[in-house]
Amino acid sequence: MFNVRQAVILGAGLGARLRGTLDDRPKGFLKLGNRPIVEESIAKLVRTGITDIVIVTGYCHQFYDQLSEKYPFVRTILNPDFATTGSMLSLYTASQSVNSDFLLLESDLVYEYNALQALQHFPMDNCILLSGKTGAGDEVYVGVSDDRVVNMSKRRDDIKCLGGELVGISKISLELYKHMTDLAPEKCKHNSQYQYEDCLVDASDNVAIHYQCIDNLAWIEIDDENHLNKAREKIYPLVEQRDSEIIISKRVERHVLLNPGPATTTDTVKHAMVVNDICPREKEFGDLVEGIRQDLVRVVHGAGVYEAVLFASSGTGAVEACLSSVVPHDKAVLIISNGAYGKRMQQICDGYGISHIDYNIDWGKPVDCNQVAALLEQYQQDISHIALVHHETTVGILNDITTISRTAARFGVEVIVDAMSSYAGIPIDIKDSGIHYLTASANKCIQGMAGLSFVICKKESLEKTKEIKPRNFYFNLYQNYFFFTQKHEMQFTPPVQLFYALRQALNEYFLETEKNREKRYAEMYEVLKKGLQMLGFRFLVEKKYRAKILTAIIEPEDENYCFTEMHDFLYKRGFTIYPGKGAIQNTFRLANMGAITKHDITKFLGHLEEYVVKKDIKLN
Ligand SMILES: *Cc1c(COP(=O)(O)O)cnc(C)c1O
Repeated sequence: MFNVRQAVILGAGLGARLRGTLDDRPKGFLKLGNRPIVEESIAKLVRTGITDIVIVTGYCHQFYDQLSEKYPFVRTILNPDFATTGSMLSLYTASQSVNSDFLLLESDLVYEYNALQALQHFPMDNCILLSGKTGAGDEVYVGVSDDRVVNMSKRRDDIKCLGGELVGISKISLELYKHMTDLAPEKCKHNSQYQYEDCLVDASDNVAIHYQCIDNLAWIEIDDENHLNKAREKIYPLVEQRDSEIIISKRVERHVLLNPGPATTTDTVKHAMVVNDICPREKEFGDLVEGIRQDLVRVVHGAGVYEAVLFASSGTGAVEACLSSVVPHDKAVLIISNGAYGKRMQQICDGYGISHIDYNIDWGKPVDCNQVAALLEQYQQDISHIALVHHETTVGILNDITTISRTAARFGVEVIVDAMSSYAGIPIDIKDSGIHYLTASANKCIQGMAGLSFVICKKESLEKTKEIKPRNFYFNLYQNYFFFTQKHEMQFTPPVQLFYALRQALNEYFLETEKNREKRYAEMYEVLKKGLQMLGFRFLVEKKYRAKILTAIIEPEDENYCFTEMHDFLYKRGFTIYPGKGAIQNTFRLANMGAITKHDITKFLGHLEEYVVKKDIKLN
């Protein structure tokens, strides 16, 4: 059984019985916790693997439209006749956007996560979720015969064999939906208040509709003040409690990775990889890749002007693809290096015989922008590109891409930025920063799995590279781009499951929001910095140049200190730390990226202190 990936939320209603409380908001924007109930519903949908949410709007639709700006996996469709029509016309309005089986929900529902899991796991395509007795006052009773739904009514007497009460969450196959949309126009003409429940019953003559009844499901639909009070006092706390107790079927032991990538992932990202087998040349997979491509660009605010090209490789693959594909044969690239990743770009160019001019700086020291300008001036005839690392992960230094790009622009030179360990951790406005190519990978601040990398390319620049005779085959940027955009398929077999993980990771990024991700990382850094300082550790990079995502710590000179031993001590306690490399002083490194919190950092500092005290290590 495939997991359903699309959801339709009916959110057009007026909420007439709650007018005073609503105050010109749709019902979905009622708040019981710290987010509107519809956003809580969206978060649950994402958690159950939904990647495309269509909301049919009407009353005060601008509220929902704002959600679709915030969450790329949310789209809205307006039912302009919402005030005078029933819910079936709203569902009908969604037909241009429905392209697969979907979960259908009402916007004013508060429900426990189990409701969605029950439908996702139900072995048949069509399933209506029912519950035991609620005493809500306006229940819809569902009549069943054997394992099928046969009728629904607000009057208990109309029902011969009661299956349960309608919750308002259903799993609908595309086939059933087609039947419903065939029936709808004629029915709506005769009855302007034709509801989707009526239509389900009408369609059940032709298509088998099953049901799943969860007797003590925690849920409520909020139609009036009584419901709202009951939701506040009873149902919502119960939902919160039950949701917090959910254990994903196979618990994965939690390890906190403080190495600079791959980073710690959420359990939901891990579980997103368990999917049905699929041929990646199917349209369904092409759609997944296309959605990911768009959202990768969206993370750096480049929509419309930039294109993402994906590779099955670690991050270095994207850097190699970019450098080998964009520098013309008769030109050179100026490479700024203040760490191992700057040096790596020089090594890639050596491998391909690409001319490069190097500006090498001691590892741990900042870039001198005047020096960059002087080199561009000196070599202006030869240089077509400048390449640099945004967050140099070797030492944790943040290089000033904007100033350097502006300088490059003065000389008509294009800019390549390796943003591997800053992408999705530090906000980047790719247009504003004047970047032509940005490389990153799935396993750092975006919090997906290792094995996928990508280049975000200014479309105009990328198009021009088709004139450059390819230096390679698998890693040619333009060829990969051209193939996908022509055929809606990756050129070579992609790591299928990693794409599903990245899809989930992107959704979780947008759910958290750019601002809050940056904030969470920065808070972790502050806690880490303070804790290390209190213990007496010293830092390699001057404060004002730190990216706040990785900290390079100068190794103590005390003879009791041994990195490997400290590593093993911490590793046993669930924390992975990382050695340093090549900097002007010996260091070890701690990254604060990934699905971790400041509480993890505090716990880590406790163990570190325990170790330092136990070994009696003198810190300067
Ligand atoms: C992690 C990283 C890379 C890529 O490393 P891979 O091991 O190939 O994934 C490149 N540049 C920077 C700045 C990095 O942090």
